[in-house]
Amino acid sequence: MAIIHRLDNNIINKIAAGEVVERPASIVKELVENSIDARATAISVEIRNGGISYIRVTDNGVGMDKDDAEAAFLRHATSKIKSMEDLKNIITLGLRGEALSSIAAVSQIELMTRQPGSMSGYNVINHGGKLIQAREIGCPEGTTIVVRNLFYNTPARLKFLNSTRSETAAISDLIAKLIMANPMVSIRYLNNDKTIYHSPGDDQLINCIISIYGKDIKNELIPVKVELDELSITGYIGKPTITRANRTHQSFFVNGRYIKDNMLTRCVEEALKDWMMVNRFPWCVLHIEIQPEKVDVNVHPSKTEIRFRDPQVIRYILTNSLKKIIEKQPYIPRVFSSTKIMTKDEFSENNSDCEKQIKDIVKGKVRLIHFLN
Ligand code: ADP
Ligand code: MG
Repeated sequence: MAIIHRLDNNIINKIAAGEVVERPASIVKELVENSIDARATAISVEIRNGGISYIRVTDNGVGMDKDDAEAAFLRHATSKIKSMEDLKNIITLGLRGEALSSIAAVSQIELMTRQPGSMSGYNVINHGGKLIQAREIGCPEGTTIVVRNLFYNTPARLKFLNSTRSETAAISDLIAKLIMANPMVSIRYLNNDKTIYHSPGDDQLINCIISIYGKDIKNELIPVKVELDELSITGYIGKPTITRANRTHQSFFVNGRYIKDNMLTRCVEEALKDWMMVNRFPWCVLHIEIQPEKVDVNVHPSKTEIRFRDPQVIRYILTNSLKKIIEKQPYIPRVFSSTKIMTKDEFSENNSDCEKQIKDIVKGKVRLIHFLN
């Protein structure tokens, strides 16, 4: 006979950590997103040994009071949503309240936090889900979190980590995306005391791109700006001179969140295929802003996936606008000449299932018709 018993919190947190904390980069993502949610304008990320032995994230955000500093490590403890209603209109990056509890379950974590204007700050230390210390301290305004010795208490998982080098590469890649997702925030990233990226936080996407790819990239980019009532697309596509051998230099952000989405990738490739050599992939950094209720971001805990309510509409607008933009560029020769811009009738014919959606937006949106015809 099976004997059913409830798991204790420590075990529950360790199991949850399996989902949230896959590798050091997942911790960096959660911590930086927390800083952004805390309205920080400057964030510094330092790592050592691929983030396995040391990750430190410091921000100048709103900080936490004594009670919150302790509650932050409890599972499902969040200040970001209270009810099902709030789920519909999420504007924060976090919402599940499981990041800090999961990270704490599998590492040695230390928090230092002080709210602006508050006389004292708080220091909380938690090892493997156990509270070690909570006390008042003097510290700068904002929040610092240090994560040491990831998976020290789950050796089996430690073994599954990749080399320091590839864990570092994953973090660097992630920070690049976070920088390009948040042009308003100055992000500094150091690996073993060496500054790798430092973005200015001046709200200029181009300066974020330069802080990652270097100054020279500026001459290789074509700006994209599409503004419709319900949707806007801004950013850059690379000229065919900077095509890549793989897709790692395609970055998509939906409402400020980095997203991996095959449909978006296919749209860009479809739009630019006449200008691309075979086996080369476009470079792009594109921000899509859309009403929050038109996307479901709560699909997966790591939240790089997204579900669009009307994917065909996005496909139509993105593909056709990029084609238009590159066609207008002087001095960029086509490699092939197979595609042309689809009219909305042709598009609807090929996609009868989405005909109604397209008609609906086209009907209501004079600017869209202008743009595409
Ligand atoms: P979530 O982000 O989903 O709410 P987390 O476990 O990541 O869950 O964080 C728990 C809570 O701790 C947050 O809701 C927030 O109130 C607080 N918090 C975490 N990081 C910070 C930070 N850098 N600055 C201020 N508050 C923070
Ligand atoms: Mg969070």
